[in-house]
Amino acid sequence: MQQNKEGAESGATARAHSFIDSVVLMSSSQGLSCHNFRDLFDSVEAFLFDCDGVIWKGDELIDGASQTIHMLRSKGKKLVFVTNNSWKSRSQYAEKFKSLGISVSQDEIFSSSFAAAMYLKVNSFPPQNKVYVIGGDGILDELQLAGFTAFGGPGDADKTIDWKQNSIFEHDKSVGAVVVGIDPKINYYKLQYGTLCIRENPGCLFIATNRDAVGHMTASQEWPGAGCMVAAICGSTQKEPVVVGKPSTFMMEFLLKKFNLSCSKMCMVGDRLDTDILFGQNAGCKTLLVLSGCTTQSDLQDPSNNIQPDYYASKISDMLDLLEA
Ligand SMILES: [Mg+2]
Repeated sequence: MQQNKEGAESGATARAHSFIDSVVLMSSSQGLSCHNFRDLFDSVEAFLFDCDGVIWKGDELIDGASQTIHMLRSKGKKLVFVTNNSWKSRSQYAEKFKSLGISVSQDEIFSSSFAAAMYLKVNSFPPQNKVYVIGGDGILDELQLAGFTAFGGPGDADKTIDWKQNSIFEHDKSVGAVVVGIDPKINYYKLQYGTLCIRENPGCLFIATNRDAVGHMTASQEWPGAGCMVAAICGSTQKEPVVVGKPSTFMMEFLLKKFNLSCSKMCMVGDRLDTDILFGQNAGCKTLLVLSGCTTQSDLQDPSNNIQPDYYASKISDMLDLLEA
């Protein structure tokens, strides 16, 4: 009985501590305001932007995004666009920016499709080995630009499997890596191909561009993200991938070399806590969450959320309003 009472008391104490921790966490993010914006703005030399839910939703520009980017450039800030969406290559993203009326060079874009190619490059992936892709043309293009032989992706979109008795599904034994990203045309053929390569080709790498649960593929809705495709291969291979997109800091190594800046002079701006904000925090950057994408203010203040950005704002153009205030 005594033990039960003590157990109940320690449970109550734990709940009280948990509540206090929650209050501390809830108060650790500051809403961007005229009181704190100038300090942030003056101390940051480079802004790292996520794209989906920050610059655009689907093919629609978020209100004020273009003017904000223009303002930051005019004030001499370096800009980098870090996207987990592997569907496009860097040049395809540059085209998308252009179609939305924003001038961004390919060198300012770091997509997870590029990160997958760079991961193989820095790890001296043998050029005679091939790469199988579950994902889009963006991954294939970046792999080919980096000098690798890649196949799969859209080329396998219409392939089907045959479960006839004694039929054998053949796969290429020279595949040394399987890269998995978002793939709206994922099918059982691709799952079998990737699974066989990882399970049967000795040393075959399993690389995930990212593990986002959902994304704003269109302006009006969220859709299953690459995490869904990655989970399918985890399930069939019982293996965990190397993740090259956010929140992994792999891409940060390239950013640091390129800009020669300390992370403390960078601010990561994104709409997801578990990728964008965690990526910025893992690298030691300042972090700004915008509520124009997949995170709401109540998500941010949920006591179970333990990822707190330094600042939050409704959208990136709040920076524009505050600078002009
Ligand atoms: Mg996003």
